[in-house]
Amino acid sequence: MIISRKIRIYPDDSQQTIINNTFDVCRFVWNKLLERSIESFDDGKLIIPNYGDIISEYQFLSKDNKGYVFDRHAVNNVKQFLRLSFSKYFDTIRTKNIKYRKGGKPKGFPRFKSKKFSKNSYASYHHENIHIDYMNHVIKLPCLGWVEYNPREKEFPDDWRLLHITISKSSTNKYYCSLCFECENNQIGYNGLDFLINPKQTLNILGIDYSSSSLYVDSNGNQPGYPKYYRSNQKRLRMLQKRLSRQQKGSVNRNKTIQQIRILYGKISNQRYDFLHKLSTSITKMFDVICVEGIDMKNMSQCLHLGKSTMDNGFGIFRNMLKYKQDRIPFHLMITAEKWFPSSKTCSCCGNIKHDLMLKDRVYKCDHCGNVIDRDVNAAINLKQYAFIHINAIAQRFIDRSFSMN
Ligand SMILES: [Zn+2]
Repeated sequence: MIISRKIRIYPDDSQQTIINNTFDVCRFVWNKLLERSIESFDDGKLIIPNYGDIISEYQFLSKDNKGYVFDRHAVNNVKQFLRLSFSKYFDTIRTKNIKYRKGGKPKGFPRFKSKKFSKNSYASYHHENIHIDYMNHVIKLPCLGWVEYNPREKEFPDDWRLLHITISKSSTNKYYCSLCFECENNQIGYNGLDFLINPKQTLNILGIDYSSSSLYVDSNGNQPGYPKYYRSNQKRLRMLQKRLSRQQKGSVNRNKTIQQIRILYGKISNQRYDFLHKLSTSITKMFDVICVEGIDMKNMSQCLHLGKSTMDNGFGIFRNMLKYKQDRIPFHLMITAEKWFPSSKTCSCCGNIKHDLMLKDRVYKCDHCGNVIDRDVNAAINLKQYAFIHINAIAQRFIDRSFSMN
């Protein structure tokens, strides 16, 4: 299992210069390599030149230029990333049958990076040079030396093997280091055996139905009461955007306003992540099995005119968090119901399917058994039942298999 952890780092001025130089050189080399690759591609055969060819052409990148320091190993990886980007593109054209036109830029084709809009980050695979001193809260990074990090970070387990790191800078000038680890998975897939040897005889199952107003409604009828962070910050955001529109392009004050807007967006995103992390952790501790509906969040926000609140509550992120947090705990499982599963239209009491249920009907009234229940709670109970059937099927498959082996 691959686990990555992102920690805030506090590089000093000279270290910041090296990091920023590395961003610049990586972007420069990427653009040069891409430019030449496209030339060769237009001539009929894709040839990605070597990093060394670019370095030797530009004097300021040579090793003799002692005044310009950057992480050479990190820049060396750029070619690999470009190759990866091209192979991803070839995969898409193979599956979707898109034709490449000379000079054209089809979807998914590797792009040039710009200083203003591209993400500032670089990866380093030189992990033998990376050490963490937990006592003094410093991490030794390639080319940079010892860098302070957030002292509130927890220690990483000894059996995690570091694969690579990524250094990045946010738009609000904060520096981060993502550490990517490989570790033993204590639960290799959930099979019937786990289910049968589970020391707990009764499973705690929770069904979760998406709700755009309060994130979700669960099968016990609870709602998490999601605070709408985007909406609550909207007044200030609108004020700043109004101010921005009146300021002159390129002026010092305009840049200040841009920075304030970025900080505000960063704050909204941090508030949301904090809330979702705490919520998903508490749910995964309480329930063995969680069943969530398999809706496509992107489609949802576009079709139903619920854009703002759907994007605001981040249900998709929440679902991913539940998934990886459940995977880490033995005997825990998360099930995503299949897209066709009619969780809203089915009666949770008798199983009758109501085909004419409208989106505006907030209360589910069953024509067959007369059950009257809140629409979202009904769907969540159906998801819980779906999970129950799913688990029984897994256990039954396991029992069948062990009998046929005997
Ligand atoms: Zn019914």
